Amino acid sequence: MGSLEEIENYAKENNIPIIQKQGIEFIENYIKENNVKAILEIGSAIGYSAIKMALIDNKIKITTIERDVERYNMAVNNIKNFNLTNQIDIILNDALDIEVNGKYDLIFIDAAKAQYIKFFEKFKSNLNDDGTIITDNLDFHGLCENIEMVKSRNLKALVKKINKYREFLVENKEFNTKFYKTGDGIAISKKIK
Ligand code: SAH
Ligand code: MG
Repeated sequence: MGSLEEIENYAKENNIPIIQKQGIEFIENYIKENNVKAILEIGSAIGYSAIKMALIDNKIKITTIERDVERYNMAVNNIKNFNLTNQIDIILNDALDIEVNGKYDLIFIDAAKAQYIKFFEKFKSNLNDDGTIITDNLDFHGLCENIEMVKSRNLKALVKKINKYREFLVENKEFNTKFYKTGDGIAISKKIK
């Protein structure tokens, strides 16, 4: 795929949960306003959000992790087609099974929702001093505020996990978090100095 539209359409047709338009615009603005240059992304899918973020500025470097080999392969191809191999490093692995050494201005958590707390706790040490963690899908299509509407057991368990993560952020003594109802719900967590 060589254009953003093609990636968006492919994602829609194949149920690949790439970030919503509003959500990525919000993050793009954050990156510009805060002069973010080093980004760690958990959950690449087919490379859409990484490509969008890399296109903001050629000084931006991104490390992104994906555990699904099919999606990883597609992301690799898409990144090549956009000539972004010098800006985006993609790793095929489970993010919870590997160590990442770099320090980042921004960590974008956008992988398995049931494991958000684990991702947060694991990767917070990879943040620069004034670093930020952004998390996607915290409204989960509005279900988090309306858990009584969820009938399926598995889905209910997942919504509960997301609400646990929200509580974890609210109560966190190391980070200050703001929640935004943009896209599918985004949180911005900043280290308290
Ligand atoms: N950030 C992407 C969308 C990611 S969708 C975009 O907006 O374009 C979430 C992805 O996270 C899925 O492809 C899934 O395979 C991956 N994922 C889930 N848990 C993971 C884990 N523990 N480690 C690595 N990748 C994971
Ligand atoms: Mg998402």
